Amino acid sequence: MTALPDCFCPTDGTRVPAGSLAWCCPVCRGPLDLDFAPTPAPLASLTGRVNSMWRYAECLPLSTPTVSLGEGRTPLFPLREGVLAKLDFLMPTLSFKDRGAVMLAELALRLGPRRVIADSSGNAGTAVAAYCARAGLPCDVYVPEGTSAKKLEQIEAHGAKPRVVEGDREATARTAREAADEDGVFYASHVFNPYFLHGTKTYVHEVWEDLGGRLPDVLVLPVGNGTLLLGAALAVAELHTAGLIDRRPALHAVQAAAVAPLARAWSEGADDLVGVTPTAPTFAEGIAIPHPPRARAVLSAVRASGGAFLTVTEDQIRHAQADLGGRGLYVESTGAACWAAIREGALGTREAVVPLCGAGLKSGRAQT
Ligand SMILES: [Zn+2]
Repeated sequence: MTALPDCFCPTDGTRVPAGSLAWCCPVCRGPLDLDFAPTPAPLASLTGRVNSMWRYAECLPLSTPTVSLGEGRTPLFPLREGVLAKLDFLMPTLSFKDRGAVMLAELALRLGPRRVIADSSGNAGTAVAAYCARAGLPCDVYVPEGTSAKKLEQIEAHGAKPRVVEGDREATARTAREAADEDGVFYASHVFNPYFLHGTKTYVHEVWEDLGGRLPDVLVLPVGNGTLLLGAALAVAELHTAGLIDRRPALHAVQAAAVAPLARAWSEGADDLVGVTPTAPTFAEGIAIPHPPRARAVLSAVRASGGAFLTVTEDQIRHAQADLGGRGLYVESTGAACWAAIREGALGTREAVVPLCGAGLKSGRAQT
């Protein structure tokens, strides 16, 4: 078993030693990063390894996993010439969040907390619940009132306890963070805990492997809290630093126009959120995050890659979901947002990979 790396605060440099249950920077209360810069294995050496995301062992901050459910290695599927979809809804709990949740449960198992808590409006909570079940850890999932009955049922099926909080998603997050400050609690936060990002990055390692050791011109990624995009940026940096790719792909971030605080900051040339952005209801509930804590990191990663922000209307999301359904791919409306952003030709002839990252059965069809 390898030693755990330390965490540090990207804003003020405060270090948090490995093995701590601290879930945020003790100085500024911001999210933490991991002091971990691994070197990926060359393509040829991956042959014959375990057929899950754990085949990228050199790049993962935890080794010899005991809670794996076989997550990862999802297929690429052509949507049209030059556009490939990565079918991340084919995961144990039907969303890409399993890539990060397995890391959090594995970490929790090693730290031995009294209990695990998570907060989520959906997929992250169901993923953490499943992996805590696999780990044999008691888990409470804080959810906002109005959370879909299907997701509550999924959380309960894994033996976790849903705790419904009155008010909006922000109220749920506040309640969870108060609970996270109690002694002996591991906060399995997909937003604050950097191990989550070192799980989601395997999405890009898989694309790289499946394209024969290269990446496309553009990676199109949905952004609410930005956990898939920030993971992608980590993987691109690892592959580039190791000389395993010649050039970095552009990261194009997709938000629903109805809740687009990052796209707004981008359009104003800002390096952080700008004021309070008005919001409206959206089919893309999974990326409807008005105040993402890692906003600065997301904006910086998109800028450094030469990418951009794209926004999609509710009509575009609805039509994209229907279009995918008509091809045999039933994804949740949030998961259709990336295809919605580029299917009308926003990227020209550049080669792109888009994630279809959550199953349609989780939230149903977008209908007006
Ligand atoms: Zn700090």
